[in-house]
Amino acid sequence: MAMRFVIIGGGPAGNTAATHAARLGAEVTMIEKDVVGGAAHLWDCIPSKAMIATGGTLARMGKASGMGLREVRADLDLEVLSARIESIEARLERSTVELLSSQGVRLVQGTGRLAGPRQVVADTVEGPMEIEADVVLLATGSRPRIPEWAPVDGERVLTTRDAYPPPELPEHLVVVGSGVTGVEFVHMFSSFGCQVTLIVSRQQVLPGKDAEVAAALEENFLDRGVRLYKGARAVGIEKDADGVAVLCDDGRQAQGTHALLAIGSVPNSESLGLEAAGVEQRSGYVVVDHNCESNVPGVYAAGDLSGKLPLSSVASMQGRKIAEHAMGFHGGSNRHLDYEKAASAIFTVPEIADVGLAEADAFAEGRKIRVTKVPFSANAKALIENDSRGFVKIISDPATGVILGGSIVGRRAAELISVIALAVTAGLRVQDIHESLLVHPTLAEALADAAE
Ligand SMILES: Cc1cc2nc3c(=O)[nH]c(=O)nc-3n(C[C@H](O)[C@H](O)[C@H](O)COP(=O)(O)OP(=O)(O)OC[C@H]3O[C@@H](n4cnc5c(N)ncnc54)[C@H](O)[C@@H]3O)c2cc1C
Repeated sequence: MAMRFVIIGGGPAGNTAATHAARLGAEVTMIEKDVVGGAAHLWDCIPSKAMIATGGTLARMGKASGMGLREVRADLDLEVLSARIESIEARLERSTVELLSSQGVRLVQGTGRLAGPRQVVADTVEGPMEIEADVVLLATGSRPRIPEWAPVDGERVLTTRDAYPPPELPEHLVVVGSGVTGVEFVHMFSSFGCQVTLIVSRQQVLPGKDAEVAAALEENFLDRGVRLYKGARAVGIEKDADGVAVLCDDGRQAQGTHALLAIGSVPNSESLGLEAAGVEQRSGYVVVDHNCESNVPGVYAAGDLSGKLPLSSVASMQGRKIAEHAMGFHGGSNRHLDYEKAASAIFTVPEIADVGLAEADAFAEGRKIRVTKVPFSANAKALIENDSRGFVKIISDPATGVILGGSIVGRRAAELISVIALAVTAGLRVQDIHESLLVHPTLAEALADAAE
């Protein structure tokens, strides 16, 4: 009999596990209470990047004269933007459902929960449906964290989920939280022409990131007139009919017309029956081992619920590895997911991407490294595209030349980092990149120069 693989949650973790397990011969059932594709498609990755793409087009039109064109004027149309986002999401949902169906995955529309280690219940409109399982994957994701001091109303005080796009453009948006999500929203709304103030709890935006990378972003924000409240932690929000005041722990107040919270997320695990099945959790996240398996054999967790790196790409890869492990196809050199080798990007201007070992971490560990850095100002394609901000930095082992990590700040950084990510995963050396015959003129040539 085929292995019965039951998945709760149809985001990137659930979807990838479903198609992969089905290909490997499992009988797969996926329970989704909302939209197949998950928060990643509906609220997170897709709408935020669609809004950023529109802001980018607007900014490029504003710089048209630098490309030899007469000044072009464009106005933002929120209704058209909203329709565009919905159409992208609908297409992605359709193609995901088609892929799942083509692999024979049974889709159940309902809310799933564990009734025991091998028993799942889906609460559907027709009533509860009991489903027996050999393997269960919990992939229910997370949602924005709302502290008790924040009177979120979806109108003046927003979470990221209220902003795709908001019914009206904020005249002055106060963003609380300067991690990846916060800075992307600062970039997005300032590129639409809104005044933006950012509350930064530490002394630099993007805490934990390379200081040089964070400084490049701060400089760009300041050039655009973004106000930074550094070293200030938000502790309250007051609102009236005209605006908001975000109260900070150092006594300062940031006034605006709207406030947006970007201060992390909480796992969707309250009604998941974790206790009923004896699944260990920590602060609502399922505790998993290096195979993403919980303390209950055969019960796995992936994606944001696993409390590892909250990235869609990581969620998908976890789903894939879980399918292989559960189906007994777990071999080869890349058996376990190495989170340290996950590439990530921040879709701001300048765009920021990194992978592997960071320079600061190497210094903190007293590890010997070689750092080579090349600015885009020396790159022909960057000059042709009229945007030569930023740099490529490659970190390698001085003895062997093996590439350990890298950062890219600048145009198309999120695409270019793939080369360094491949090098880090495959254990390539700087010579391997340097000796590759690349296309000229391209931004990628800066990678070969940095690998010299
Ligand atoms: C604003 C923002 C932008 C982001 N941008 C990026 C980006 O550009 N790139 C990137 O890699 N990551 C990005 N992320 C992170 C990324 O969205 C998450 O890491 C990813 O969505 C996690 O995938 P998942 O499968 O765990 O869960 P989700 O995508 O959250 O999917 C979980 C699914 O489970 C369903 N569900 C929940 N409970 C139940 C239940 N009991 N029964 C049935 N179904 C249930 C939900 O309806 C949902 O469809 C962003 C996050 C935010 C907040």
